[in-house]
Amino acid sequence: MSSSARVSSANDPLRLAGLDGGAARSVIEVHGVPIGGPELAIAGGPCGVESRDQVFAVARYIAEAGVRLFRAGAFKPRTNPYSFQGLGPEGLELLRLVKQEFDLGIVTEATDLDSFTDVERVADLIQIGARNMQNFALLRRAGKSEKPILLKRGQGAIVEEWLSAAEYILSEGNSRLILCERGIRTWSNHARYTLDVSAIPAVKAMSHLPVIADPSHATGRRDLVIPCALAGVAAGADGILVETHCQPSNALSDGQQALLPDEFLALVSQAKKIKGYLHSMA
Ligand code: PEP
Ligand code: MN
Repeated sequence: MSSSARVSSANDPLRLAGLDGGAARSVIEVHGVPIGGPELAIAGGPCGVESRDQVFAVARYIAEAGVRLFRAGAFKPRTNPYSFQGLGPEGLELLRLVKQEFDLGIVTEATDLDSFTDVERVADLIQIGARNMQNFALLRRAGKSEKPILLKRGQGAIVEEWLSAAEYILSEGNSRLILCERGIRTWSNHARYTLDVSAIPAVKAMSHLPVIADPSHATGRRDLVIPCALAGVAAGADGILVETHCQPSNALSDGQQALLPDEFLALVSQAKKIKGYLHSMA
């Protein structure tokens, strides 16, 4: 069902993102992968595009594991200006080659209006990052795109703010929207952020939009990624977005949270089992 068919009340602030009394949940297809249905959608890849060898090596084991979506940023929103900022257009070109070689759908971030159209040409799913969740000009541009959008939750955003940001995209006409819980800032300091597991069913109770979990940015710690990914799936996530790298210690960004190839493959199989079990109980 298209989001425009969901209009409930002219005064409802979540008139497009909200559930209008038992309407069917949205299933968004990305490169032939349905997100929001009974199957678990999995996107894996490094934090950033670093080189042809790096993305091809990761794409190879991801594709061999049956994963159909490849994540990697060509434009990186970094906390510090001196940190690796991504390869930019050269990174987009490498993502185009990954898609061509391995037939993987590309999930990559648009960080600003200037680069949006270039990202849009290559991406199968355009990511709006946590730091841009309330960049309203970027949200409106995403709402005018023909490509599906992955909207991450801001690190300090409550669920209503996240869904209001989604409403900016939907209200411009783009109904192909997926939400991503990627952790929020809390008092806990054992991890980078706190994966807000309860937000997954809470959002699904308020909205028809698919929700996926990102345990990599939520934890910032390799040893916590698998348990948190599985917790997200058990809580009802429609998919997971996970960072993995052949040589995390040499990664130019987020190496400390990147799963090693074997760990990634183990997660894929465990996460699918949990999703299958939930489905069999439904
Ligand atoms: C990312 O997925 O590469 C990223 C930067 O994530 P976030 O916006 O959640 O920090
Ligand atoms: Mn990252």
